[in-house]
Amino acid sequence: MQCDCSGTIADRIEAIRATLPQGVGLVAVSKFHPAEAIREALAAGQKLFGESRVQELQKKVAKLAGEDICWHFIGHLQTNKVRPLLRLRPALIESVDSLHLLETIDNEAAAQGFVQRVLLQVHVAQEETKFGFTPEEMLAYFESRSFEKLRATHICGIMGMASNTDDTERIKADFRAIRALFDRIVALCPDLRGFDTVSMGMSHDYKLAVECGSTLVRVGTAIFGERVY
Ligand SMILES: *Cc1c(COP(=O)(O)O)cnc(C)c1O
Repeated sequence: MQCDCSGTIADRIEAIRATLPQGVGLVAVSKFHPAEAIREALAAGQKLFGESRVQELQKKVAKLAGEDICWHFIGHLQTNKVRPLLRLRPALIESVDSLHLLETIDNEAAAQGFVQRVLLQVHVAQEETKFGFTPEEMLAYFESRSFEKLRATHICGIMGMASNTDDTERIKADFRAIRALFDRIVALCPDLRGFDTVSMGMSHDYKLAVECGSTLVRVGTAIFGERVY
């Protein structure tokens, strides 16, 4: 899909928002797009942005200082980048894909003296290269109530991606599996507070994701156009 490239960034944000039910949030994924594109989105009332590389986020935070922006980190995070990322105080790290990373974030947030909000990333897609916990690993984590050991991290929900395919049924099956995992965790640990986010859906599949119970979609190309890497 991609971007139908008609209209301005503001028009596209409006059009996407119009399709989202109440209670479904929109992360504008601005990776590889310049600060000027983010300013256009800000002018359209968009406050939530997603970035996938720490260095790029650092630059944008500096360039857009003083703006009313919430940053979500959505990329694979190496443990040696945790400290500089947390210094930027991202509103949410959506892509916590291993226990080791979770522990590193928890230690660093404790050291920096604040609570970091995160999502745990689940891997359900066909591709083997994607990062994340398997559904079984994630269930085991909550079953063992290991989250009680966290000192400075709040797990707000889960994030996942569907298989990269044109097969609508396959995509829906993946999204349903992610939503079902979330529901099982909630049933398993009804006392989890603030565990309310199911982040799934990108430019080409966010409508399907919403149908399957997404509460947060992450849309880049359909807002900002194709990325130039
Ligand atoms: C880049 C990216 C997106 C946005 O992808 P588009 O296809 O451009 O909408 C969403 N989620 C994650 C994790 C990404 O890395």
